[in-house]
Formats: sequence, structure tokens, C-alpha cells
Amino acid sequence: MASGRKRRRPIVTANWKMHGDLASLSVLAAAIGDKTAGSSVEVVLCPPFPYLIPIAATLDGTIRLGAQDVHFEGPGPHTGDVAASMLADLGCRYAIVGHSERRANHGETDETVRRKAAALMEAGVHPIVCVGETLEQRESGETEAVLERQLAESLRGLTADADRFVIAYEPVWAIGTGRTATPDQGQRAHAFLRQRLGSIESAEVAECVRIQYGGSVTRDNAAALFSCSDIDGGLIGGASLDAGSFAAIVAACVA
Ligand code: PEP
Repeated sequence: MASGRKRRRPIVTANWKMHGDLASLSVLAAAIGDKTAGSSVEVVLCPPFPYLIPIAATLDGTIRLGAQDVHFEGPGPHTGDVAASMLADLGCRYAIVGHSERRANHGETDETVRRKAAALMEAGVHPIVCVGETLEQRESGETEAVLERQLAESLRGLTADADRFVIAYEPVWAIGTGRTATPDQGQRAHAFLRQRLGSIESAEVAECVRIQYGGSVTRDNAAALFSCSDIDGGLIGGASLDAGSFAAIVAACVA
């Protein structure tokens, strides 16, 4: 495992998925605000769509608002969908695209992800682009090929604005399973993604893009993962539903 001083600002994102209700998430957001106050880490909260406005109202301006998804088209006849311009309107700074649950449950492809990322960038919202291999792909030695394809396809034509997107490496086998990548597995995947970014775009771009790790991060394993030189923070699911755990993960990012 490589470790060292990083020049990129760490970023930790809470993905609340389809959990909670207005009361509980408002309390959670306020508690996270209290517990992470003064941190140098960029903290992003991604509530379910209906709670974006009320949660935004609880934030003091240091915590960023994020969405969990977006449609790739502009406003129009897309029942149930949300346009990037609408997210920008609400003050969303980030939106997650290509989460493995969206890829698996909604048939999203790398091309869908690319179009969503493009729509977000057009609207001034920063995409958090998720990539990651399944267990079957890892066990058959395909991890790097999968990451390379997802990265290249999802970002095709977008890397000129590379400082505006974040990559999340989320091995599918680690999401919500309690089975975390080891720091060595995480660092190898992140270093590979950064090296590919360097080839697709430039060494400068690769050096400035932040790559978060996601997959069963807890307060106990966060510090070891975040100490790796190419891991710039985390995309946190389950542990982001508890303010104490999430704040400890944020603190581990700068420990
Ligand atoms: C996620 O949903 O992106 C995630 C990483 O979930 P968890 O932390 O629960 O594995």
C-alpha cells in the first residue's frame, strides 16, 4: 500500500439511498453539521429527491448538497425524472451517477452514465461517477478491464473539464455487504484509475481528479483506506445514516 501527502482536498459523500423520513434525516443532517464543523474535508449529503429542499435548508453552507441521480435530458416529457438544471436550481453541487444499484436495477449503461455526467456538467453540477467490478469479474481477473471500460466510456468527451468531476471506485461486492476492499486492493484500483485518467487526458488531470472509495466503509476501517495515496475520501452508504459514525469517517480522512 502506498501512502503519502495528497494535494487533493478530501471529499466524503453520504449516500442516504431510499432511507429515512423528513424528521429523521433533518436531525441526521443537523448532527452531521455539528460533528463535522471546521473540518477541512469536503462533506456532501445526498438525500432522497423529496428531501433535497428541506435538507438544504438545514445546511449552513459548508456542507454540500448532492443528488443520487439525474436524467440526461433537459426538462421535458419524462415522468418521474429530474433534470440536471433542476438540481442546479436547488443548489446541488454534486450528483451521483452510475451507482451500481442504478446500473443493476434500472439497466443503466456506461453510455447512460456518460450522458448523465455530460448533462450535469452542462448545468454546473459536479458528477460523482461510480465505477466498480462485480465479484465474478474480480475473481476472473477482469477488474482492470472493467474499470478501464467504465472509466473511458463514462467520461468520453468530458475530460476537458476534469477538475469538475469526482470518481467513486465502488467494488460491487463491497457495497452494503460488510466486505470492504483491503487498503491494498483499494489503492491498486485507485492507482490504476488515476493512471488510466493520465492516459485518456493528461498527467495534470489525473493528479487533480479526486477518487473516492465506496463499499462498507466504517469508522473502524476508514483510516487505513484513506491513508492510501490515491484514495481521496469515501462514498458512504450504511455508515452515513449514523452521525457519529459518519463524522468519525470524515475525521479519519485527515487523521
Ligand atoms: C454505496 O451505496 O455507495 C455504499 C458504498 O454503501 P455502503 O457504504 O453501505 O457499502
